[in-house]
Amino acid sequence: MRTQIYRPTPVNLHRMACALRRGDLVGVPSETVYGLAADALNPDACAKIFTAKERPANDPLIIHVHQIAQAKQLAFWNQAAARLADKYWPGPLTLVLPKREIVPNIVTAGLDSVALRMPQHPVFRALLETANLPLAAPSANPFGYISPTTSDHVKTSLKNRIAYILEGGACRIGLESTIVDLRSPAHPQILRPGAITLRDIQAMLTGTSAVHSQDPGEGPALSPGLLKRHYSPNTAIELAEEISSAQVTSNQVFVFYQRIPPRFKTAKFTYVLTPDGTGLSAANRLFALLRKLDAQGLDKIHLQLAPSSEPLAEALNDRMRRAAAR
Ligand code: AMP
Ligand code: MG
Repeated sequence: MRTQIYRPTPVNLHRMACALRRGDLVGVPSETVYGLAADALNPDACAKIFTAKERPANDPLIIHVHQIAQAKQLAFWNQAAARLADKYWPGPLTLVLPKREIVPNIVTAGLDSVALRMPQHPVFRALLETANLPLAAPSANPFGYISPTTSDHVKTSLKNRIAYILEGGACRIGLESTIVDLRSPAHPQILRPGAITLRDIQAMLTGTSAVHSQDPGEGPALSPGLLKRHYSPNTAIELAEEISSAQVTSNQVFVFYQRIPPRFKTAKFTYVLTPDGTGLSAANRLFALLRKLDAQGLDKIHLQLAPSSEPLAEALNDRMRRAAAR
């Protein structure tokens, strides 16, 4: 199978929509990361996602919808979902709700809940509309590796495993969606931090107490796919709040969050994650930088965590910790 990247022209969108209707896979851009999409109501098509990614069958998929009405056909909607969707859809927020019969078990890994999101990226939205199908789409990377934030990342890591990738430019956010469990709407739980923060969720759900799930890395019952080690390059990563005592040797690199300390000014292999200091630019550079560095055969990547004053620190540091876990 030859992997090709297609520009999102009306003709190509139609072609991708036909591929999805036939049960084929399409790599799709989103504002979070690139996804690997299939017709969510076709179990055979969804099975191809697990094969292409080498994803374990117990790791459920997120379903992407174009309209709220479509979401209500897949899940039992509630007041909390309505409030959050009203504020944050389309956008980087995934809602976990009790599933309806129509959703195939392969999508939910046998759970009685389903994860739903309405993406914001105009190309993804155009595809959802043209195909007129709900699309199951996890990140378009081999299981456990760094999520893709450009079409080239998808092509490199899923080469010859899929035929179609839609071009949509570099992802605006670059981190996976925030996942909120709303199965008990009075006790919402954040299963995965993302660009929409715990505070954002709490502000929308007054009267409830939105919290982080105990330890997302350990929670097989709540969210089977959230592993301690994830988003991981092959190169070892050492995390630090301040990088100071490390040896400056030639086969290691130093990635500082915003500023390079004077002691490292002469070191050759230094990078800055967010030159403008915003969490958003740290987010949309993190995975691309890790991929680039991972291709260099280094002994170690020293990576500085985001400061806790940064609103996106929770999501950024979550990804950095999982990338560094062994
Ligand atoms: P991704 O690979 O970024 O699409 O991530 C999908 C993740 O969403 C999975 O690994 C799960 O952690 C989470 N997820 C999907 N469906 C459910 C569900 N029904 N209940 C809880 N978490 C879910
Ligand atoms: Mg993923």
